[in-house]
Amino acid sequence: MLQKTWDKRGTPPIAVIGAGIAGAWQALLFAKAGHEVTLHERGNDAMTRATSHWAGGMLAPWCESEVSEPLVTRLGLRSLALWREHVPDTPFNGSLVVAHPRDRSDFERFARMTSGHQRLQRDAVSKLEPSLDGRFRDALFFPDEGHVEPRRVLPELRARIRAAGGRIEFGSAPELADIEGLAIDCRGLAARDVFPDLRGVKGEEIIVETDEIVLSRPVRLMHPRWPLYIIPRERNCFMIGATSIEREDDGVSVRSALELLSAAYAVHPAFGEARIVEIGAGLRPAFPDNLPRIAIDKDHIAVNGLYRHGFLLAPALAELTLGYVARGEIDNEVMQCK
Ligand SMILES: Cc1cc2nc3c(=O)[nH]c(=O)nc-3n(C[C@H](O)[C@H](O)[C@H](O)COP(=O)(O)OP(=O)(O)OC[C@H]3O[C@@H](n4cnc5c(N)ncnc54)[C@H](O)[C@@H]3O)c2cc1C
Repeated sequence: MLQKTWDKRGTPPIAVIGAGIAGAWQALLFAKAGHEVTLHERGNDAMTRATSHWAGGMLAPWCESEVSEPLVTRLGLRSLALWREHVPDTPFNGSLVVAHPRDRSDFERFARMTSGHQRLQRDAVSKLEPSLDGRFRDALFFPDEGHVEPRRVLPELRARIRAAGGRIEFGSAPELADIEGLAIDCRGLAARDVFPDLRGVKGEEIIVETDEIVLSRPVRLMHPRWPLYIIPRERNCFMIGATSIEREDDGVSVRSALELLSAAYAVHPAFGEARIVEIGAGLRPAFPDNLPRIAIDKDHIAVNGLYRHGFLLAPALAELTLGYVARGEIDNEVMQCK
């Protein structure tokens, strides 16, 4: 549906507040569309105050469809195309889903609930990931999924924003009322003054280092409590994630650490000898329905609730916001106008 609600004065200057993955994509697409863009971030360029810093970075709409609404799949599929277009070196090596015999029924259920996969037998699994040789009798391979390394891709997006003419200011937390032009509020969990129903869902993760295992893509392991995964990172590192706990502290419990490390050990015993590099947690900003929202209020647009899909959904949400500002387009599934 097309509604002309934005009083468009040429291309208004845009102030994006928050340089996590949501804000970075908004700044990039608006700068590329010719707007004067400033991206404000209260923290410094290490970005440790952003949930995005702690994320896995999987771009996995088909795997996520097991537990997500069709909206997430729709926006996720659009985002894959936008990642390919705007960040062409994004790895699209697919995802692998494996299970141990005791979790066989969960594995078969996952296969029934998702699409876009091929079933690989033992030899094909070994060919794809030689480090997993002989470890699993079969696997589901989702060939079109991708993954990014958040701590590399956020700086890369910022470089692209600057190349498109945008400005980035760290240590900057302007009041929304002081912004001239259009404010796009991407403050994540800090935006509870505008979204009282926003909550944080804790995700714990561990990064380990070993040169005994090489993986080219995320490997998901069926687990009775959480969808656990191992994601290859630079310099022989692997991120093991992630729990999903309805709590808002950023501590990591012994129980969670044991479960994450056991899962990795179950995928390959060489993880038992790996060096622990980091144990941490981030709070996923989520609305009660766990779906993203673009809230529109005259000179203020707020993009939030990216929950466990920030990297997957941020490009499509930025495209929708731009479509609204440029042409008044409304996506009724995501947008709410005041
Ligand atoms: C362990 C874990 C694993 C995950 N794995 C994945 C995954 O594999 N794939 C995926 O798609 N998603 C994943 N997610 C989810 C994803 O990380 C989040 O959805 C996403 O990071 C939310 O991004 P955001 O930009 O909305 O918020 P944030 O990343 O929190 O960014 C908000 C930014 O706003 C800044 N800010 C706040 N207030 C102000 C202010 N007043 N002025 C200026 N700046 C301000 C903050 O400092 C922060 O940098 C994972 C999350 C966790 C915790």
